Amino acid sequence: MRILVVEDEPVLSDQVSASLRFAGYAVDVARDGPQAYALGDVNAYDAVILDLGLPGMDGLTVLGRWRRAGRAMPVLILTARDSWHDKVEGIDAGADDYLAKPFRMEELLARVRAIVRRAAGRATPELVCGPVCLDTRSGRVSCAGLPVALTAHEHRLLAYLMHHADRVVSRSELVEHIYAEEADRDSNTVEVFVSRLRRKLGAAIITTVRGTGYRLECPS
Ligand code: CA
Repeated sequence: MRILVVEDEPVLSDQVSASLRFAGYAVDVARDGPQAYALGDVNAYDAVILDLGLPGMDGLTVLGRWRRAGRAMPVLILTARDSWHDKVEGIDAGADDYLAKPFRMEELLARVRAIVRRAAGRATPELVCGPVCLDTRSGRVSCAGLPVALTAHEHRLLAYLMHHADRVVSRSELVEHIYAEEADRDSNTVEVFVSRLRRKLGAAIITTVRGTGYRLECPS
């Protein structure tokens, strides 16, 4: 899963992006409105954290332009404390949730998990597929009740497939959602991660759909 953090205060921006990376997300950072708009316009993010007061172009304008352009990714806005009109305007402009500054990082992470799973149509924080269970709160993965250790990339790939378990996911889509902007991307490595996941979770868990991509197989 991949997140865009838009915040012009360097200390807060570093704290938020470090917490998200520690929680397992691929993270891109924008420090002003135009840069945020451009990144959100071309990349596929699973969520965006958007400060409203930004140099260049304010957050509400960025959000409005994304939505008018059909960009539907979940957006959590950061508002000033007690600014009820920021919250109302932000939600009316297409934000999915808001968080007033200052906030606890635990609350930010919980809200991000919630908007990511709602956008994927999942109601509960525990994602289950056959014997495989991924608890999005702790990041723990188990198979038939036994804990499974995954690398950061394997974990992101599994999390994306589990959020989108009802459809075929293309290799390029996976690349978009497991790497940050500056990362070395190689779509062949997706195949490597998939084969490692099959080894750890059982060969039948991920089907290769020839010429299209991959599908998580969840027997009901
Ligand atoms: Ca700001």
